[in-house]
Formats: sequence, C-alpha cells, structure tokens
Amino acid sequence: MIDQKGILFILSGPSGVGKGTVRKALFEQSTDLRYSISMTTRDPREGEVDGVDYFFKSRDEFEKLISQGQLIEHAEYVGNYYGTPRQYVEQTLNEGKDVFLEIEVQGALKVRENFPEGVFVFLIPPSLEELKDRIVNRGTETEDKVKNRLKAAKEEIDMMDAYDYVVVNDQIDNAVTKVKSIVASEHCKRERVAHQYKKALEDE
Ligand code: 5GP
Repeated sequence: MIDQKGILFILSGPSGVGKGTVRKALFEQSTDLRYSISMTTRDPREGEVDGVDYFFKSRDEFEKLISQGQLIEHAEYVGNYYGTPRQYVEQTLNEGKDVFLEIEVQGALKVRENFPEGVFVFLIPPSLEELKDRIVNRGTETEDKVKNRLKAAKEEIDMMDAYDYVVVNDQIDNAVTKVKSIVASEHCKRERVAHQYKKALEDE
C-alpha cells in the first residue's frame, strides 16, 4: 500500500535561462523522477515527437481541455498555450512517485496555489547580460521577439521570491547536480521520514 504521496518538483525560471536543457540533461541521467509531458498549441520543432516532447494540440482542443478542468495550470506564452495535464500528475503522485514539471513562471505561480506542498526551484542565469546573449544567439527569433523575450525575462526574475530554491545555471552539469541534491534533500526532510517510521510502528 502506498502510504505517502510522491513529491511534486517544479523547475521554472526566466525565458531563455535553459530550463529545457537542464531538464533534458537531468532525465538523461538515471532518476526516479517522472517527467510530466506538457500540452501545447505551438507547432512541433524539427525532431520533436508528439507524446514525447509535448502533446501537440489545436487551440480548440486545448480550450476544451481548459474548460473540462483537465489542466492543473495553463499559460499563454509567446502566442501559444502551454499546460500541465491534471490526471497524469495526480495519479503519479498518488502512486507515491515524484513528478517533475518544467514550466514557465506564470504557470508555476498557479501550481503553487493548487499544490502549496510542491517544491519550487527557480533557475537563473549567471547574469542578465548572459541571458540576453543566449536569447539573441539562439538566432531563431526576430528583433522584436528578442526584445519581448528580454522584457518578459526581467519581469520573471522579480518572481524569484515565490520559490523555495534558486539554482544558478552557470554550467548545465552544476545545475543538474544541484537539482538532484534538492530532490535528495526533500526526501530527507524530517516530516517525511518521521511520518514513514511512525506509520510503520503503528502497523505493528
Ligand atoms: P518551448 O516552446 O521553448 O518548448 O517552451 C516555451 C516555454 O514554455 C518554456 O519556458 C517552457 O518551460 C514552458 N512550458 C512548457 N510546458 C509548459 C506547461 O505545461 N505549462 C507552462 N505554464 N509552461 C510550459
């Protein structure tokens, strides 16, 4: 019998900070975390696979999911919807497994309202200048879009206060190690461990 729910980890942070890269590097290593695949209305990029990278949906389909309450959170980001499926997250947590979300900041704030017990990790760039370089050097955006992304990024950094942990993304490997340490530390929290022991003794 599962007597304890899994932990919900949320990795978020400003646009262009490298959330996706850190998340992918983390999941390339062995981990007990379950990644929640998001829904989106944006077009698949080259090499992206439906049901692996995202569940790709039309706007109509996405709006239906919203109205049916099938998303824990959703946000509109650079003209597209992104959202976290409710059933997968709730079911996996109920099975006692940890779930990992990698989402932008508005969505993370909404998750906090519904899952205050979640562990919120804010990924920040070593400096805003570097963030600018990364967004510009990605080279896939127009100048206007770059400006919009930068403006959004500055606002997002102000949101750090809503998080439990801050990880500086100076190097991917460092950031991944820190995220893994956070996961390990959360499992060592006294409340969590004591609960398991007390429960085991009660069963005797
Ligand atoms: P991209 O289009 O580059 O894959 O993702 C754009 C942004 O959407 C990233 O910051 C990513 O973290 C975020 N994102 C991905 N999935 C979700 C989601 O389910 N909900 C929210 N709110 N943001 C998401």
